[in-house]
Amino acid sequence: MKKTKIDWCDSTINCVYGCPNGCKYCYGNVMNKRFHFCKNWNIPEWKPEHLKEFYSKKPKSIFIDSMSDIGTWKEEWFNAVAKAISDNPQHRYIALTKRFDRLMDMFLRFPPPIEIFIGISVTTQANANAATLVHRFHNTMPDFYSIEPILQSITIPDDAIPKTLIIGAETGNRKGKVVPQKEWIDRLVRQADEHNSIVFMKESLRSLMGNDFRQDELLWRV
Ligand code: SF4
Repeated sequence: MKKTKIDWCDSTINCVYGCPNGCKYCYGNVMNKRFHFCKNWNIPEWKPEHLKEFYSKKPKSIFIDSMSDIGTWKEEWFNAVAKAISDNPQHRYIALTKRFDRLMDMFLRFPPPIEIFIGISVTTQANANAATLVHRFHNTMPDFYSIEPILQSITIPDDAIPKTLIIGAETGNRKGKVVPQKEWIDRLVRQADEHNSIVFMKESLRSLMGNDFRQDELLWRV
């Protein structure tokens, strides 16, 4: 288990490294070039030696796919991690995906342990629209949206606003890096407030938001 700089959880455990989703701004890919966790970032690798990290006593909020996307995992990987989670209900678990459709299919076959908070990674209006269609189809809502990095103005359909919105700006020095406008964030906050949703802004938004910077208490804090 690793302590993390991610401010919305306590720790990370990664049993899978790599992700085929191909996001240009991928932080995991940048880290992999430096530390060589897996041979090719686009081909996820299973690292079962990390399963033992789940077996710790002190309760924590743990992000389980900070170096992959759970929605792209093989079924056997998902099952092994689900077993470790079931064995360790003292923790709260968080997973993030861009493949909510595939994750929902997997959940139908392998119901997840209830301790997992599932988030969808949304960076564009197209992501938000696609996510909405999937959870209308499955008649289920994710626990949160991670709108990070926000790449454009986004309006979430009213019937699709989750309980929690995490919002952040792109960091790093990528050529073509997107610097958000305050109005994009204000619009999401207005939508969240209309639905009594939690808003958690990443530190990357602190200077842009000034007095409107906000970090509500998260549901998975232990
Ligand atoms: S979904 Fe996440 S881990 Fe996968 S490529 Fe995109 S940013 Fe990287």
